[in-house]
Amino acid sequence: MEKEIHSMKPAGINSYGQSGGQGTVFNATKYMLEDGPGIRTVVFLKGCPLRCLWCSSPLCQTTEPSLVYLKYKCASCEACLPACPQQAFFLDKEGKIGRNFERCTNCGICTKVCPVGAREMRGSTMTVEEVLAKVEKDRIFYRRGSGGVTLSGGEILMQAAFATNILQRCWDKLIHTAIETCAFGGWEDLRAILTYTNLAFIDIKHSDPFLHKKLTGRSNRQILDNIRKAAAYCLELKRHLILRLAVVPGMNDSRENLRDIALLLKDLPGGWELNLLPYHKYGVSKYDWLGMEYKLVDVEPPSRDQLLEMVQYFESFGILCSLGGAEIRSVVA
Ligand code: SF4
Ligand code: SF4
Repeated sequence: MEKEIHSMKPAGINSYGQSGGQGTVFNATKYMLEDGPGIRTVVFLKGCPLRCLWCSSPLCQTTEPSLVYLKYKCASCEACLPACPQQAFFLDKEGKIGRNFERCTNCGICTKVCPVGAREMRGSTMTVEEVLAKVEKDRIFYRRGSGGVTLSGGEILMQAAFATNILQRCWDKLIHTAIETCAFGGWEDLRAILTYTNLAFIDIKHSDPFLHKKLTGRSNRQILDNIRKAAAYCLELKRHLILRLAVVPGMNDSRENLRDIALLLKDLPGGWELNLLPYHKYGVSKYDWLGMEYKLVDVEPPSRDQLLEMVQYFESFGILCSLGGAEIRSVVA
């Protein structure tokens, strides 16, 4: 089987593209309705320090642009085989084309020779100005319901300087700003980002450091520390903070974990809201595009009754709790 090798930047090295004048953007999507108030442009930055088993955006895990292979388009013409300067392609015993991931440098040459677009690079380097130009084009849609820009990922702290610059420029133009982050990174980076953020969504994956590492590849110590600091800072600056928990059955929905998350929230300065996002499988096909294995094939989304029971449980602690995210429609429909 093809091997998956992805680079991960070590903790604390957050500012990919050090000057922050440019960074790697996966996509900038218009007319989004689930990532903050009003109609929004969501800018997805590439790169994430976590490897959550349920990740629905594997294309955003690496900071560099990613080569994807869309099998359903491939005409088996073999034009890509000799074109690769790294000899990363090979024919297996059945005559099917495979890729040696350890050899591939993501140079993108094979995408240029493929006559049917079966190989594509996803993500590109953009300057702050280029991102702002896209945002400006959508600005007319922001007037309704306090719309604006949401920076998402990946993990925006992986490109903290770039993210801060985009947010600051939007802030200066009086465009509403929101972020989605897992809070794994340096506090000073997160603090700078929050300074220019109207609304912050911060994920909680699991309350237990050992299980957090098992499920995401990293301990939650720095994350919980950042959440406490962010809560105090948002209170001080009068920003809006919403904590989010993606509910993944069998992974983080034990009563013990829910209780510890409730106690964590109760202990935060500010009394912030909790959003429950039901686990979904919308990202599974992307694993195939990248030649990666999706490990939670047997996990099914939580039922509506399970989610409502969780909402009531958090409310019993005096926490404002709601169901959120686009995924909720598939559960409550
Ligand atoms: S991206 Fe470059 S190195 Fe990777 S398979 Fe294509 S041609 Fe080869
Ligand atoms: S060049 Fe494109 S169509 Fe031809 S074998 Fe390679 S991926 Fe398939």
